[in-house]
Amino acid sequence: MLHAHLERSSARPLPVVIIGNGPSGICLSYLLSGNIPYVRRSSVHPNSILQRKLEEIPEVSILEQDTEYLSEGLEGRSSSPVALLFDALLRPDTDFGGIADSVLAWWHQPERAVPHLVLGKNLPGGAWHSIEGSMFTLSQGDWMGLPDLQFKDWLSKKKRGFRNNRATAGDIVQYYQYYVAKKGLKKNFLCGALVTSVKKLSMDVDSSYGHRDSRDSSTMWKPQAIPQDDNGSFFQIDGFVTTVNGTQPFSVYAENVVLATGTYDSPSWLGVKGEHLPFVHHTLSALEEAVKNKEVGMMSDPILIVGAGLTAADAILFAHHCNIPVIHVFRRRVNDPALIFNQLPKTMYPEYHKVHQMMKEQAIPCPGPYECYVSLPEYHIVSFTEDRKCIFCDKSGHQKIHNISMAFVLIGSNPNLSYLSNNGMDLAVDCEQPVSSKRNPIDIDPFTYESVHEKGLYAMGPLAGDNFVRFVQGGALAIASSLLKKVNQNPP
Ligand SMILES: Cc1cc2nc3c(=O)[nH]c(=O)nc-3n(C[C@H](O)[C@H](O)[C@H](O)COP(=O)(O)OP(=O)(O)OC[C@H]3O[C@@H](n4cnc5c(N)ncnc54)[C@H](O)[C@@H]3O)c2cc1C
Repeated sequence: MLHAHLERSSARPLPVVIIGNGPSGICLSYLLSGNIPYVRRSSVHPNSILQRKLEEIPEVSILEQDTEYLSEGLEGRSSSPVALLFDALLRPDTDFGGIADSVLAWWHQPERAVPHLVLGKNLPGGAWHSIEGSMFTLSQGDWMGLPDLQFKDWLSKKKRGFRNNRATAGDIVQYYQYYVAKKGLKKNFLCGALVTSVKKLSMDVDSSYGHRDSRDSSTMWKPQAIPQDDNGSFFQIDGFVTTVNGTQPFSVYAENVVLATGTYDSPSWLGVKGEHLPFVHHTLSALEEAVKNKEVGMMSDPILIVGAGLTAADAILFAHHCNIPVIHVFRRRVNDPALIFNQLPKTMYPEYHKVHQMMKEQAIPCPGPYECYVSLPEYHIVSFTEDRKCIFCDKSGHQKIHNISMAFVLIGSNPNLSYLSNNGMDLAVDCEQPVSSKRNPIDIDPFTYESVHEKGLYAMGPLAGDNFVRFVQGGALAIASSLLKKVNQNPP
């Protein structure tokens, strides 16, 4: 059976389609489902300036207030003013180690819901599905929660707790799925739906559609009566949905589209010769799989791990745990302040501190105390050969060659925006470069998160430069507020 929203979109475009069902899409769906945040009576925010502003019009929901005014002067670990604002309202003094309750009260006002559909390749939870379940978050566990359902409350109901204030990826995925069910959002979610194309159509172009195109094998009908928005245009979203009955194409139409597809779908490649060889992998899960299948072990040639981020560190810890010999190659100096390990407090992240110590103490030619691990700082990979050799080079150009059993290139990831024309580059801050969460996010208005290049198109989460779950929620506030205004201007 087709999803009810897909059926409805055949008659007229939906007000909103969200692509991506990770924390960003879930949080936005909650707000669009008529869950409206107000300042809780008798609450006192520790930031006295913000408190004074919140007292001005307490009867007006935060979604309808001027977020630019409210967020003015807020500072914190995000460069997005709305992300700082929403975070300050949800977790008032968390950066000072406090556990004050949110100053928000959530009212369910179904008459203010904005009909929407959330499309996602997998089950709700996003990138957390591809992270090994036992892995601990970098962030404090509390910061992984979504509005109006504290993560730690859910965890204590499950009779589990944080370790060192951190949560496991497995618990986080379960919490997000529970959140979708508990908050009654399931009816808006279509899982197993891979979006392959988003196109803007104008009324003129589409005015010829008015009936089902008999040549079209897709499950969808062309819209019959398309309401005109400000520009007389709307979006067509195409893809494939996989159900128990198999895979079918679909098309859905929307006045607004939110891109919430994250930036973890395409692992980065080194771009060196031989990288496509079957023993060279680009994910941590490939290492787990190889160990499970006994493709690597204590007696095999060392595995090669490339990269000096947290995923590479997780791979080293995993290999160390399984007694698998490792050669670790990375480009930076071990004491480079930009290296993530030099930024993490030792007490909170003992395991990453251990990896950093190994990286420092185990550099050739002075083998240190950790057997089975060799660190090659300031090296880069030249090539891989078919007979499982890797050639590396140091900064002065000296080459080494080493037998390896497998290689794991763990140097970050990029968004996969192949469903947009020009891979979404036309929407980026620098339209000449690929979209990247850190260097070149999608160019959005900071208070609405609407694309500055394409009206009706929004982006949130790492695609819009918000890299932590704690801050992706600000994008949801901004988008919901903008969409509510639009819907009020053009009631159906
Ligand atoms: C190893 C690792 C550790 C992390 N640790 C932390 C941490 O400690 N704290 C923290 O705050 N953040 C952490 N993050 C970042 C966190 O995962 C992201 O901030 C968050 O998941 C972003 O949410 P999102 O919903 O925007 O995107 P995602 O979670 O990436 O979800 C997007 C979803 O959209 C799907 N999708 C993509 N393309 C399509 C398509 N064409 N059609 C349909 N669906 C599509 C994707 O498969 C994915 O399921 C970590 C990330 C990784 C990879």
